[in-house]
Amino acid sequence: MVTPQYWKLREQLGPRGRQRVRAAVDAVVAPVLGSVRATGATTRAAITFDDGPDPEVTPRLLAALAEAGVTCTFFVLVVQARRRPDLVRALSAAGHEVALHGDDHRRLTELGHRAAHRCLVTARDELQSLSGTPVRYYRPPYGAQSVASYLAARRARLEVVVWSADADDWTDRPVEQVVQAGLTGLAGGGILLLHERLEPDPRNGAPTTSFDRIDMARRVIAGARERGWEPGTVGELVRTGGARRTAWFRP
Ligand SMILES: [Zn+2]
Repeated sequence: MVTPQYWKLREQLGPRGRQRVRAAVDAVVAPVLGSVRATGATTRAAITFDDGPDPEVTPRLLAALAEAGVTCTFFVLVVQARRRPDLVRALSAAGHEVALHGDDHRRLTELGHRAAHRCLVTARDELQSLSGTPVRYYRPPYGAQSVASYLAARRARLEVVVWSADADDWTDRPVEQVVQAGLTGLAGGGILLLHERLEPDPRNGAPTTSFDRIDMARRVIAGARERGWEPGTVGELVRTGGARRTAWFRP
């Protein structure tokens, strides 16, 4: 069983140990097998939303982002996009970056390289035709990635994007705490992981949260601006500051 061993080792290393191991591994592995974890932009930060689109949340989120004058990156599920293609077209029409989170939310680490590649190519092509825009970025569900699935994404001409800050927004807490957690880990050039909806995990069940995700987005934008980082898309930040890569492999 690889999974429990991986998480046990991660736990044993602690935050500082993990940082040291990551730096050592990245020096060797990231130039060849690197996923984009952050960017070199100093006065901007990317805000990303996973698992959508969602008929209840996406239209309100679009209105809030328009009001704030912010464009973000949306890692959408094709299975969701297929149900409401109008929402995906609304995202790209509003200038947001439409990116791929998968056809459904399965871990590609459970497939071989060829099956993962086939999955990604089909999902990317369908998302491109639904959104009417080229799809360049891919974020693996659960951040689960093997060397085989990473190489499948690259062979499909997708750039893998993970995150440098995480609001842990699948845990039900007061919205202030969710926003605080997200902003604490963020820095200029960082990539923040948020969700517009939560896909149930077959291993752990469906998380339910009661805070308002539009309120969360508004507060995150205000908090980022207070700290001197203007929110934007991953693509904009990579073009401005260049990609910072890490060797990101987890079960
Ligand atoms: Zn997800």
